[in-house]
Amino acid sequence: MKVPFLDLKASHNELEAQLNVAFQKVLKSGLFIMGPELDAFEAEFADYCGVKYCVGVGNGLEALHLVLRAYGIGPGDEVIVPTNTFIATWLAVSQCGATPVPVEPRIDTSNIDPALISAAVTSRTRAIMAVHLYGQTADMDPINEIAAMHGLVVIEDAAQAQGARYKGRRAGSLGHAAGTSFYPGKNLGALGDGGAVLTNDKAIVDKVRRLRNYGSETKYQHDVIGYNSRLDEVQAALLRVKLGKLDAWNCRRAEIARTFLGQLHDCGMELPHVPDWADPVWHLFVIRSPERAALQSFLQANGIASMIHYPIPPHQQGCYAEGRWGELPIAERLSREVLSLPIYPTMNTKEVAYVIEMIKNFAQLGLMTRM
Ligand SMILES: *Cc1c(COP(=O)(O)O)cnc(C)c1O
Repeated sequence: MKVPFLDLKASHNELEAQLNVAFQKVLKSGLFIMGPELDAFEAEFADYCGVKYCVGVGNGLEALHLVLRAYGIGPGDEVIVPTNTFIATWLAVSQCGATPVPVEPRIDTSNIDPALISAAVTSRTRAIMAVHLYGQTADMDPINEIAAMHGLVVIEDAAQAQGARYKGRRAGSLGHAAGTSFYPGKNLGALGDGGAVLTNDKAIVDKVRRLRNYGSETKYQHDVIGYNSRLDEVQAALLRVKLGKLDAWNCRRAEIARTFLGQLHDCGMELPHVPDWADPVWHLFVIRSPERAALQSFLQANGIASMIHYPIPPHQQGCYAEGRWGELPIAERLSREVLSLPIYPTMNTKEVAYVIEMIKNFAQLGLMTRM
């Protein structure tokens, strides 16, 4: 049996007719940038996330970058970022000319450890990037408390958490503003690049709308140095179709995760920890194993794809070689031990059972060689 890491084709097959209709509608309209599909998607996705406003932009990195710009964050400012995240969280801060200040995660959830944030706050700190990694939100109440105490802005990186909830509220509605990504592999993915800013703050929305469109509100009138970073009509129309499936797809991911969690204990690996307050959407199912390389090759030899999120933490990347980051042992340990198992909405019961069986076989082999 072959189990891919993700199967976008199968998900799109379920919606092929509707996606074709949506595409045809845009094709026939002749409107391709900043039209009615974008307006409709923005309203629908804001509603889905439980916020007043959504602004579609070119991709997730731009969403985070533009939202930081909208808050006026720039050179001389510091922004707290998790050490364990996709590089884009850090790049957004650097693109503004601000300095990322890394904070380690909790080893059990892999998300930023709120208990370590206060020690990283200085007189230059302006914001905290709260990343909801792997589909589970960060622990937002303590993060928001620390931010309120120091007058900081809380920006969620919700790229991996579309639909996830924290104490009943959706990712994207848990801080001052959020950036999300519609990269094809995300839980809500476009058929190309896309992203969005979410917030209840009208002033921030107005700024992001200007920044994404050459710094212009009125055509050919440019008030600030802006960018070209828009979510086009085709992607907005396709995303509207896919948004209709998001909850069902997230439910199926959760079912698979429950099966993994129920069956994979005692296999010599750490399973993801889900706190009481979390309702994750399982963008990734990430286990930790001290024998990761052997496990990954064993799975591969048996037709099961897996991936590493992420093999090199941001502070060890070439682009950040000049920073003095100090010791960040938890992120480094995660980068050595994490392995993402296949999880996707069309993964069937047989495939799930096969992955479990193979992991159990691997664990058995380990026991035998140790005897
Ligand atoms: C995917 C991702 C981004 C960036 O999104 P793009 O649309 O690829 O630019 C940012 N942060 C996290 C955590 C992501 O997973």
